[in-house]
Amino acid sequence: MPADVPQRAENPERSAKSQPPRGSAVSAVEVRRSARRRRTVSAYREGDRTIVLIPARMSEAEEQRWVGVMLDKLEAQESKRLLGDAELSERAELLSDQYFQGRARPKSVRWVTNQNTRWGSCTPAEGSIRLSHRLQGMPEYVVDYVLLHELAHLLVPGHGPRFWRLLEAYPRTERARGYLEGVVAAERLPHLPAARGEEQGAGGA
Ligand SMILES: [Zn+2]
Repeated sequence: MPADVPQRAENPERSAKSQPPRGSAVSAVEVRRSARRRRTVSAYREGDRTIVLIPARMSEAEEQRWVGVMLDKLEAQESKRLLGDAELSERAELLSDQYFQGRARPKSVRWVTNQNTRWGSCTPAEGSIRLSHRLQGMPEYVVDYVLLHELAHLLVPGHGPRFWRLLEAYPRTERARGYLEGVVAAERLPHLPAARGEEQGAGGA
């Protein structure tokens, strides 16, 4: 039976009731119990409501806990969905103005999901730039770096000294490259509990 849980439920870890709900958008949460559901919990937004589907037999305490978990999860997903293709084009224009006096003018800039070995690519003849969706959720300065890198290829193909000179003006080139190298390195590591504070050197390339 649907039960209305006012606003976002609190995690049991947070002391019940005393804490105000986090976040700015306080939206209604509707919990729907389903007899067909045995163990899985899912959640989605429907207008300004959040629907959480749980197994019928779940206890009240479990329900509370899961609502908290699912709300956090949705929020995390939403904060990762950063720019659409239109915003990406605007961003490119801005970066081109700022760093290349507007000389790099792509005809299209878009996200692609079929590009897993490269962060970005550029076809100068067509003036098209594609960014891997794997960049979504990474810090803005990293996305900007990849975008700027591909914009620079509209002006200079290849990675010679002239190319890197173009990117010198962007203050976070080195940092962004280090971040991306770290991501690649982390994917190759065995999945050990991340406890030891060992440095995984972000070597050259
Ligand atoms: Zn390149």
